[in-house]
Amino acid sequence: MDAAKLILSATPEFDKALAHLLSVISQIEWGGIIFYTKKGTFLDEAIEIELNHIELLDIGSVVDTEHDYDSPEFIEAVMKRENQPYGLIHSHHSGGVYYSSTDEEEIENNIGFYPQGYLSVVVNNKGHVLAKLSAEHEVTHMTYIWNEDKTAYREIKETGTHTVEATAMLRIFDKGNRLLRNRIKLLHQANAKEKELAKKYPSGSQHNGHRSGVPESVIPGQY
Ligand SMILES: [Zn+2]
Repeated sequence: MDAAKLILSATPEFDKALAHLLSVISQIEWGGIIFYTKKGTFLDEAIEIELNHIELLDIGSVVDTEHDYDSPEFIEAVMKRENQPYGLIHSHHSGGVYYSSTDEEEIENNIGFYPQGYLSVVVNNKGHVLAKLSAEHEVTHMTYIWNEDKTAYREIKETGTHTVEATAMLRIFDKGNRLLRNRIKLLHQANAKEKELAKKYPSGSQHNGHRSGVPESVIPGQY
């Protein structure tokens, strides 16, 4: 079976929440539950997924995040959004978005519990959002073994699983955000330069360019 095409989108609320998380926890991996809505199945030509909510569960280390699917936090978060499909989201912070061997293993361990498909989302600080929906289908092979004079046969039924998956990527930071990030970078550089100068010339570190207070021209009795 050809895998369906995955069409990925996100609500503005999701974009905001993700941008916030990425800026607050930018040096280490974090992980949580991703809630989404879905139109279509693997039997259709396309599956549309809209990401809409993150429930942060774990702040891990530089290289790893994990959470327990039996934890009270997990169960509570899922119960609150009773009819919504969910999967796992985790951040690769400053790294690229891809499925590491640990990530693939995690999908393999969970896929069996999600007959409608298991969603795994990997994000990074650049705002790349990679999503993969995987599902297992049971396949049955029938083998017929005839007896010697071909008057009767035995049926041998073999079952196995076949995995289908669909992957898509989107970027949450729009042009405006990129401009803002560039501006922040420039200001950080300017600050670093100023600090450097202050170190070199301690007496010259005073600001003479401006001062606070009431401008002389409006002090009463001045004119
Ligand atoms: Zn990962």
